[in-house]
Amino acid sequence: MKAIKYPVVEIFTSIQGEGTHMGLPAAFIRLAGCNLRCRWCDTVHAFDPANATYLTPDEIATGLAPQLVVITGGEPTLHDLGPLVAALHARGKYVAIETNGTNPIPEKWGIDWVTASPKPNSGYLLACQADELKYVVDDEFTLDCVADDAVPPGRIFLQVESARPESAKKAFALVMENPERGLRLGIQLHKILGVD
Ligand code: SF4
Repeated sequence: MKAIKYPVVEIFTSIQGEGTHMGLPAAFIRLAGCNLRCRWCDTVHAFDPANATYLTPDEIATGLAPQLVVITGGEPTLHDLGPLVAALHARGKYVAIETNGTNPIPEKWGIDWVTASPKPNSGYLLACQADELKYVVDDEFTLDCVADDAVPPGRIFLQVESARPESAKKAFALVMENPERGLRLGIQLHKILGVD
């Protein structure tokens, strides 16, 4: 049978700068293609598969040093991730995914950790099970869209938009004024430290 190939835009190592795993060294696998077009998107280079190199699961999984591997995009759930996750698990990796939440994530893929970041232009759709949620706090954001019951308390991050001071102030206020909702202020540590 012909091995599946994935459109890989880039593979790089850095610290995980966001969410529960913040500060851990991680390998990031960025796959091409996305079903949304967010105003603040900082990975527009991942939209077009023409920017990608097509690689097999083994080609991608070989030689990654960190134990934490993050599959991201674009929107990685547009691809059948089962074979890639299996290749990473075969090398002892812990596999996380970053998704916009618009697609279900089949259990058979075996992903260890799901970070979902529902987006306004999908109506904040959350179609998958998640381990943590991230919401970008832009000028229009309100807590009405937050899926409080989808994850345990403390795993809902209100993410500052592109380090904008207005967004930081708003996210800070929302977290402080609603302690019963288990919200956390979300930052991008790698950008603050200038290590991405
Ligand atoms: S879902 Fe993510 S990758 Fe897709 S457009 Fe929005 S921010 Fe960019």
